[in-house]
Amino acid sequence: MQISDVQLDQVNTQIGRLIASDNFYGRRLREAGITGVSSVEEFQRLPFSEKQDLREAYPLGLSAVPQRDVVRIHSSSGTTGTPVIIPYTQKDVEDWAIQFARCYEYAGITADDRIQITPGYGLWTAGIGFQAGAERLGAMAIPMGPGNTEKQLQFMMDMESTVLTATASYALLLAEEIEKRGIKDKIKLRKLVTGSERSGEKIRQRIIDALGVEYYDIYGLTEVYGPGIGINCQHGHTMHVWSDYVYVEIIDPDTGELVPDGEWGEIVLTTLVKEGAPLIRFRTHDLSRIVPGACPCGHNEHPRIDTITGRSDDMMKIHGVNVFPAQIEEILSSFPELSSEYQIRLSHLDGRDTMRIYVETNGSVDWENLRMRVAKRVKHRIGFTPLVKIVELGVLPRSEKKTRRVFDERYD
Ligand code: ZN
Repeated sequence: MQISDVQLDQVNTQIGRLIASDNFYGRRLREAGITGVSSVEEFQRLPFSEKQDLREAYPLGLSAVPQRDVVRIHSSSGTTGTPVIIPYTQKDVEDWAIQFARCYEYAGITADDRIQITPGYGLWTAGIGFQAGAERLGAMAIPMGPGNTEKQLQFMMDMESTVLTATASYALLLAEEIEKRGIKDKIKLRKLVTGSERSGEKIRQRIIDALGVEYYDIYGLTEVYGPGIGINCQHGHTMHVWSDYVYVEIIDPDTGELVPDGEWGEIVLTTLVKEGAPLIRFRTHDLSRIVPGACPCGHNEHPRIDTITGRSDDMMKIHGVNVFPAQIEEILSSFPELSSEYQIRLSHLDGRDTMRIYVETNGSVDWENLRMRVAKRVKHRIGFTPLVKIVELGVLPRSEKKTRRVFDERYD
């Protein structure tokens, strides 16, 4: 969706604020002699910003306002090295709550609902975002925080929670506990709102069946308010992103070029009204696409993105084709005889790139036949034939956190 005149005006206000603050992006603009943009083309020539830029600004170098205007900070969990600190003004905090309340509204949640909040409270943007949105909407917030399943279930029954907010994996755990204890008739849940953790269709359906809820996916990241800048409506799984707060672009992660609507690539976000830490063309490394066409809900002022299929850091280029782990995962999940675990290894053998896919099955299957069928389906969908290796069930490593499944050994 092309940037509108209103959005361009907002970007210019942001540019003015950044230059005045002389933070990393303000300096970048000043050095490039940019004082504003007057067209789509000029906007598209603005430099990207990266997580690394934000890290280098630690602790408060990102701030675009005087310190006395900052009312809160959040921090994104740096898996490696220095964390990122995002300062928020009073208006930023309010704007985030307004966006989050709108998410709840799109999910059909009202002031009559009781929202059980299980994401964590603290430096990161999860729990407090779900809570501020619930209060803004006028619903009853039940601020549980994570863990303590016993207490979660007790409160869910006694408080008659109608909405559960949780990561997909925690929702699944609670769903399984409810089944195990046979207490489903004591549970009043109608809707589940999950954070932006990617979950496969198998898990999603499992949760829906076990809890009997409508399933909503929220989008967001700490660098850009937090969760709540978009959600799917009642017409399918694609997520509307609030165009009065954030402008969305999709780029080829390799070249940085914009891709046409409908094509997959990396989400790049520009904040339109943020004060504490405005970001221009911030590379999220989340992979999705703009969903073209009108949504039956009629809210076409807010463009839709597809379910996040992974991270651009996971993208593999092989035989000149961009391949995402999610594509391989989707193909593998069409084989009921395979487990949900897999591993992809890229190597350079005899002068050419090779992809090996390790999959698991049990002893009652004809391995050679399965191997050939998997290779054939990958070739059919993606265009080249991988080496498929079948291993015994349970051989591939599992992890409680994020399991690493792609290994690029070509340049080791
Ligand atoms: Zn819609």
